Amino acid sequence: MVVIAMIRHTSLISRCVKNVQNDNIRCLSFKSLRKLISIRYRKSVPTTPTVKAPYDDICQIGDPVLRKKAELVDPKIIETEEFQKTVDRLYKVMKAYGAVGLAAPQIGLSLQLFAMEITEESLSDIHPYIRETCKMESHPLTYFVNPTMEIVNPEIISSPETCGSLRCYYAEVPRATEVRIKALNRFGEPFTWSAKYWTARVAQHEMDHLQGLMYTDRMYPFSFEYFVPTDMHKDDKDVAAH
Ligand SMILES: [Zn+2]
Repeated sequence: MVVIAMIRHTSLISRCVKNVQNDNIRCLSFKSLRKLISIRYRKSVPTTPTVKAPYDDICQIGDPVLRKKAELVDPKIIETEEFQKTVDRLYKVMKAYGAVGLAAPQIGLSLQLFAMEITEESLSDIHPYIRETCKMESHPLTYFVNPTMEIVNPEIISSPETCGSLRCYYAEVPRATEVRIKALNRFGEPFTWSAKYWTARVAQHEMDHLQGLMYTDRMYPFSFEYFVPTDMHKDDKDVAAH
């Protein structure tokens, strides 16, 4: 995806090539290109977060925490006040963005933890045809700690996805139809959870975040599109964003 993103910036690449030529560098390696681009954008794009995790906002692609495999949560800390506050923070940020799921890395914490909640209210803005086609159903708030996933029905369904960590883009993403997850709840109690269709899709999306993956790693590349949000404010609802 890095390559595809760069192809979209052909004019920038042309300028980089020119700079490389001026510097008498014989070949343009990926490393040199990346260096040139980072120098150009150094002032406008922070390379490291300046805010300490957990964040009050959903971090964006480029934050290294999104590309790390999240750490297992030590069951002994689950009942601590600090961990419970972390869980509450995750939920608070998820609701502030109107997301239906959020993984701990998205608030800067490399932990095997995610939350899901699909309310009827969040689905009410979705066109009935899309809701029916994607088989979107409400789902109560559920926390997954140290989840492991098993594919129950590997039949692939493709649907559009967005991500709070990659705002203003969407793409068609193939996902398995049905999954089963074993995890601990927020109090450390083990449970087994199964879901189909859209609910299973949201869970697979969040499970990917715990492995350092984004939907762009699984999407059909030519379906990747930009959309103009009605309002960029975080309190606005974007049900598909997670
Ligand atoms: Zn996401």
